[in-house]
Amino acid sequence: MMLASLGSGSKGNATLVRSEKTCILIDCGYSLLQFEKRLLNLAVSAQEINAVLVTHEHSDHGSGIAKLARKYAIPVWTTVGTACALALEDYQMISGGQEYLLGEDLKVQVVTVPHDAAEPVQFVFTQLTSGRRLGVLTDSGHITPHMIQAYNGLHGLLLEFNYDENMLQNGPYPPSLKRRISGQLGHLSNSQSVDLLQQIDTSELECLIAAHISEKNNSAAIVDELLQHKSERYVPVLASQQQGFEWIQV
Ligand SMILES: [Zn+2]
Ligand SMILES: [Zn+2]
Repeated sequence: MMLASLGSGSKGNATLVRSEKTCILIDCGYSLLQFEKRLLNLAVSAQEINAVLVTHEHSDHGSGIAKLARKYAIPVWTTVGTACALALEDYQMISGGQEYLLGEDLKVQVVTVPHDAAEPVQFVFTQLTSGRRLGVLTDSGHITPHMIQAYNGLHGLLLEFNYDENMLQNGPYPPSLKRRISGQLGHLSNSQSVDLLQQIDTSELECLIAAHISEKNNSAAIVDELLQHKSERYVPVLASQQQGFEWIQV
């Protein structure tokens, strides 16, 4: 299984997961033009995408979904809440706590997460031929026992490192926005994500990607430093807003 990112952060998110026979897009917070341009860099054509999974309706994840699905006739899989919030007419309904087969060789587990959207979810993928598991987790206000269970024992994990507490508190955002981001339905701070890594079994983890890193309230240097000595098995990758990251094998 492989994954790549077209960009990650509050200005737009889109992630690709592919196995031998299936190619899945997670979210599209980009205009069609931007999406197509970024897709070219990863040597993928939109026609190869079998389905798009949508985590929630916030514009950095959902703004490009309707146009993309219409132009390329890509089936959209999302929760009822997200579909209503995005006014999607045609979609495949998924629900938190359930598992679904994607194409011939991928399975997705839908994980309910605490975030200030209508019905937000995140995903854990299993490649059926190898049993390898990849988790994607951003846009969550705190860590729940359900999440710890779902993200246990993964081979790969793309994890939100949204903000550094000091930078957020001393940064330029208005107090209401600071409260929203750091609230129970906001985003994961660096220390919350490090905490999650300590609570799950990471003995099989071979690939860790820090994602949705705030450009105002966090820095690559801080996240890099935090993750430097976490494991001898992998070198953490930092996803950027500008470039995302290139294909990584999980
Ligand atoms: Zn987001
Ligand atoms: Zn969000």
